[in-house]
Amino acid sequence: MRLINELEEFTKEIKQRDIYPPIYTINGASCNPIVNIGGQNYLSFSTNNYLGLATAKKLIDAAKKAINVYGVGPCSARLMAGNLDIYERLESTTADFLGFEDVVIFSSGYMANIGAITSIVSSPWAGVFSFFGNKDRKTIIISDEYNHASIVDACRLSMADKVIFKHNDCDDLRRHLEENTPVNKLVIVEGIYSMDGDIAPLDKIIELVKEHKAMIMIDDAHATGVLGKQGKGSFEYFGIPSSEVDILMGTYVKAFGSVGGFIGAKKEIIDYLKIAARPFIFSISIPPACAEATIQAINIIRNQASLREKLWDNTNYLRNRLKGKGFNTMKSGSPIIPIFIGDEDQAMKISTELYESKLLVPCIRWPAVKKGKARLRISLTASHNKDHIDHLLKQLDNLRAYF
Ligand code: PMP
Repeated sequence: MRLINELEEFTKEIKQRDIYPPIYTINGASCNPIVNIGGQNYLSFSTNNYLGLATAKKLIDAAKKAINVYGVGPCSARLMAGNLDIYERLESTTADFLGFEDVVIFSSGYMANIGAITSIVSSPWAGVFSFFGNKDRKTIIISDEYNHASIVDACRLSMADKVIFKHNDCDDLRRHLEENTPVNKLVIVEGIYSMDGDIAPLDKIIELVKEHKAMIMIDDAHATGVLGKQGKGSFEYFGIPSSEVDILMGTYVKAFGSVGGFIGAKKEIIDYLKIAARPFIFSISIPPACAEATIQAINIIRNQASLREKLWDNTNYLRNRLKGKGFNTMKSGSPIIPIFIGDEDQAMKISTELYESKLLVPCIRWPAVKKGKARLRISLTASHNKDHIDHLLKQLDNLRAYF
C-alpha cells in the first residue's frame, strides 16, 4: 500500500472508532461567551480572550483604520520590503509596557518560540559570521516537563541537548543545573501552564538560574495581561524586575485579543534574533491591522485594570464553587481551570454531554497532556458573567454521575 493510502486508512479508522476530535464551525465571532454553531447559541468556556478584547470596539476601529492605510497583508518578510512602521510602533509599545529594552514580533506565539529557542542555542559564530572566531560551546536546554508543544518543537528543531525537569519541581531543576556544568544552560518555563492553569514558582526558579549562571526564558502566553498588578505577567506577579528575565515570550492572541507573538529582551539580543531567527527572516509578520489593534489592546490593558479585576473575580467565584462541590481543579491558580477526569473516553463523554446541553467545554487529551490525564479545560474571561458561570455549575452538577 502506498503511504497516501495508509494515511487515508488511518484517518478512516480514527473516525470509525469515534476518537477523531470534534472541530466545531463557529458562525461569527468565536471569542465571546455566546457563540453560534449551526444556528444555535452555545455558552463557551473555551477561548483565551481573557480580557474580552477580541471584539472590543476600539480594537475593531483601529484595525479598520489600519486596513485603509496598509491594505490587508505586508506581502513580504521584514528583511525584504515588509518592515512596516506599524510593526515598530507595536514593538516599542510592547517593550515600554513590559519594561524590556526591545521587542521583536513574530507571526504567532508558536513562531516566536521556534525562532527564539532555535537561534539562541545555535552557534551564532558559525557560517557567515565565523569571522567572529569559533565559540562552538555547547548549550543545554533545561525544560519543564509540561512546556507547550511550541517549546517542545523548538527544542527538537534546535538539535540542542535537552533535559526535562519535573513540572514546577525546583529540586529537580537544581539537580539538572548542578549536573550540567560547565556548558551554557537555557532554562525554559511557562508563567502559567496552559493545560493545568498553575503558576510556575518563578521566584525560586530565577534564584536557581542566577546561582548557576544559567539563562532564563519565560513563555508568558497565558500570563501577560492576566498576572501582576499592571498586567505585565508572571514576573511582575512575583515582584521580579524585567531586567532579571533574559528572554520573555508572549502572544497577542490571548489577553490582547489579536494575532501575533513576540520576544522581549535586551536590545542586542533582539537585534541578534532579527538576523538569526528563521521565522523572522523567512516568513511573513502579522497583518498590519492586527498590529494597530494590539496597540489599542495594550493601551486598554494599561489603563483599565477593571477588566483584569473582573477576570479574577470570575476565576475565584468559579474555582471556589467547583472546589466546594468536590471537583478536582488540580493546582490551578489562574483563569484556566481544569477538572481532572483521567480516563480519555470518560472525559470525552462529559465534554460531549456538555455540548449537548449547549456548553462548549473542551476535553483535553493526549498529546496535549499525558495519557490517562484527560481533563475538561474551562477558561474564563472578563466577558463572562455570574449567570454564565452559575449555568455551567448547574450543568456540571447534572452530570455528577460521570465524575
Ligand atoms: N505558548 C503557550 C504556553 C501557548 O499556550 C500557546 C498557544 N496555545 C503558544 C505558546 C502559541 O501561541 P500562538 O497561539 O500565538 O501561536
